Amino acid sequence: MNDRENQRIKAVLFDMDDTLIDWSGLQGDMTAVETEHMQNVYRYLAAAEYTLPPFDEFWNLFRSTLIQAWTEAKKEWAMISFAQVMQDFLLACGLDEPQLDIDAVLRAYNWHTVPGVAPFADTLPVLEQLKNSGYKIGLITNAIQPMWMRDVELRAYGILDYLDVRLTSGDVGFMKPHPFIYWHALELLDVQPEEAIFVGDRPANDIAGANDAGITSVLMSPPHLERQLDGVRPNFTISKLEELLPILAQLEGEL
Ligand SMILES: [Mg+2]
Repeated sequence: MNDRENQRIKAVLFDMDDTLIDWSGLQGDMTAVETEHMQNVYRYLAAAEYTLPPFDEFWNLFRSTLIQAWTEAKKEWAMISFAQVMQDFLLACGLDEPQLDIDAVLRAYNWHTVPGVAPFADTLPVLEQLKNSGYKIGLITNAIQPMWMRDVELRAYGILDYLDVRLTSGDVGFMKPHPFIYWHALELLDVQPEEAIFVGDRPANDIAGANDAGITSVLMSPPHLERQLDGVRPNFTISKLEELLPILAQLEGEL
């Protein structure tokens, strides 16, 4: 592995969904996916002999708890954890708090890869090339789940071992575009903002946040997405990850 000691850019950070992972082939819809996982939770609790409302009621109460949590979190770009949402929801269902093992409930939820979703064709080759060039590689995702749940997907897609740092907003307590989550990743990677670039597909979250944090921003704009910039200005725009490599070469030339 090359040493980047005397190079300007030392770390490349990525968003996860629609940046490293291509959601354009999603089969079915996310409501069906979430229903399946909540059926797992329902079966787990029923087997533990909790008294539960009918599944439709259970599911609707979970949805409304989740939507309310997101709405509240977005006001300040703070974040609450999936464990907290699940606990609030189960208490609202009338379950007894002292007996609840939320980690066991999250394991029973059994999050896994979603049919039709896969890395982009160039994701693994680009990560391999970055790693071989000595870049540190990070991931920051706005996800309510703890990282161990999203690791299930990263492991299945062969991405996990490339990552030196990976953060979900659910674990950190802030979500993009709040600069704290970027600075936290940089601190863990031991690099300065001007030594990093951030690649993401959402202008209002990924790009605005990277700009505010002082990181060179790259908008990932694959053909299946049409995101509005709404005044947000990325430093670079790409439609494929492999376009990053000449951008990095250009940035080194500006040293
Ligand atoms: Mg994304």
